[in-house]
Amino acid sequence: MVKIVIAGAGIGGLAAALSLHRAGFRDITIYERVRELKPLGVGINLLPHAVRELTELGLADEVAAIGVPPSRLSYYNRFGQPIWSEPRGLDAGYRWPQLSVHRGEFQLLLAREVERRLGSDAIRLGCRLVSVEHLDPASPEARAAGHAEFARFVREGAGGGAEEVEVAADVVIGADGIHSAMRAQACPDEGGPVWNGLILWRGTATVPTYLDGRTMIMAGDGEQKFVSYPLVAPGADAGATRLNFIAERRAPEGVDETADWNHAVDPGPIEQLFADWSFDWLDVPAVIAAADEILEYPMVDRNALPQWTFGGSTLIGDAAHAMYPNGSNGASQAIIDGRTLAFHLANETAGRDVSTDVARANAVRTALEAYEADRRPATARLLEMTRQLGPEKVMQLAYDRAPQGFAHVNDVIPADELQEVADGYKRAAGFHPSALNERASLTPESAPEVED
Ligand SMILES: Cc1cc2nc3c(=O)[nH]c(=O)nc-3n(C[C@H](O)[C@H](O)[C@H](O)COP(=O)(O)OP(=O)(O)OC[C@H]3O[C@@H](n4cnc5c(N)ncnc54)[C@H](O)[C@@H]3O)c2cc1C
Repeated sequence: MVKIVIAGAGIGGLAAALSLHRAGFRDITIYERVRELKPLGVGINLLPHAVRELTELGLADEVAAIGVPPSRLSYYNRFGQPIWSEPRGLDAGYRWPQLSVHRGEFQLLLAREVERRLGSDAIRLGCRLVSVEHLDPASPEARAAGHAEFARFVREGAGGGAEEVEVAADVVIGADGIHSAMRAQACPDEGGPVWNGLILWRGTATVPTYLDGRTMIMAGDGEQKFVSYPLVAPGADAGATRLNFIAERRAPEGVDETADWNHAVDPGPIEQLFADWSFDWLDVPAVIAAADEILEYPMVDRNALPQWTFGGSTLIGDAAHAMYPNGSNGASQAIIDGRTLAFHLANETAGRDVSTDVARANAVRTALEAYEADRRPATARLLEMTRQLGPEKVMQLAYDRAPQGFAHVNDVIPADELQEVADGYKRAAGFHPSALNERASLTPESAPEVED
């Protein structure tokens, strides 16, 4: 049996565990650094290509129950004038919806599902990956252990003590996020994430419903921007909505550029930065003032790597390809990584003779290379597009050509140029409706039947 270790119980690691289980693997353990999983973060978007994978994992209803399908995505300039608007999800012709969810709620949903399907001890908390050693599968040490990969963790005890734990496996998956220890080991000279000088302030707030109550909006340009979308569908209290927002600006003096997802700050100065942004359809400073909490995060990513796979170990999610949030693709790409990896691993091992350690190690290495060949170039292209603003490029074009606003957007950007920006990004991100709707499933043919 193929033994799989995953470092990191974030969205990528948990989705990978569910994907591997769906593909027929049973010996899967996730080691997570924190001692308790808490519903951290604010909103994220699951794009149709990720919702497809979650649907094929049997999670469509559960995820839909905690999400809102945005009806449209609309772009405006900093005066609230409309630039571009497009339907999303089912309304845009996809067979799967887009869903806006609370990151932490979604992570806990995946964790519960991992425990239900893989067993209550499938997630080991308080275990921080320190290093991974890749042995020659034919070496006496690997033969003695029955596996060629050795992952080392520091396990924290409840009383504050720590001990080192070594786990031998056939596959080690580094799903340990933007500060990945596995990546740092593979690229010791890389240093910290790359910062572009912008700062993001993320928050949630309950405010009067705007537009149709299900529209995701982005207003502004490459220097200053405001993004919001509802996290709760319009319901009984149709006059109010809980929304997620991201306010973004070139960093003021003294800002902390450490990439810490949980860094809370005072809303007052941020409200001031957006004081003029009261549109007749949304009062941006009032939204910021109503925030439950504001989390500050620098706009950072990582350069594309020339290699993800080392022996029987590989990277997924932010550990492999952390990218800016424009395009809302971070969680979605992490989910697709896990599904692609599980697909290739099943294809190389199911129905084959992998009973000897060496045969198993060779099959694993072939599968990881196939995974990397599918995913590394695709995510490198996407990373490059997010650095060029992704689909939000239309906002910068409007600013460059009409910094003081316009009577009608087509006076400054022709309709076909707007359309091409939107289509070009979707093609590069692998979620153009026709490409996604027609693509074969990533559930391997050898996958077991699903029990109800
Ligand atoms: C606390 C938190 C809050 C976030 N909030 C937002 C948000 O509001 N908006 C947004 O767009 N994105 C947010 N993200 C990032 C977003 O979840 C990811 O960009 C995306 O989902 C890809 O997921 P991932 O699994 O690759 O990385 P992550 O979701 O970052 O998960 C990585 C996991 O690995 C664990 N880990 C780290 N180092 C080690 C180690 N050495 N050993 C074992 N485990 C380790 C982390 O604790 C974490 O659980 C947040 C991430 C975190 C960790």
